[in-house]
Amino acid sequence: MVYKKLGVKTSEKADQFYHSTPWRKIRILALERDQHRCLPCWRKGVLTIANTVHHIKPRKEYPELELTLSNLESICPACHNKEHPDRGKQRKKKKHRINVVEERGNPEMI
Ligand SMILES: [Zn+2]
Ligand SMILES: [Zn+2]
Repeated sequence: MVYKKLGVKTSEKADQFYHSTPWRKIRILALERDQHRCLPCWRKGVLTIANTVHHIKPRKEYPELELTLSNLESICPACHNKEHPDRGKQRKKKKHRINVVEERGNPEMI
């Protein structure tokens, strides 16, 4: 399966762990095990394609489980953001105001 790379720039420091070969491998195993479904969505009966693998027990607290398949779950970005509410809290909603300039229609030229 080919995923489009999203051009998302993260200000977070690139974590070397997520670039390591063991992680890349186990991440794919987790996605395949979960058939690329987002598990939190799936539990709610919703089928969403997962493109992220989440640590159920956070790496910070359980570094020994960071490469343990049973500690991983496939997840979609929306659910993942809920798992990490502290991330992206600086995201401000910009209100896009569309100024509609009302123009009078040109009178028909005769
Ligand atoms: Zn989800
Ligand atoms: Zn996560």
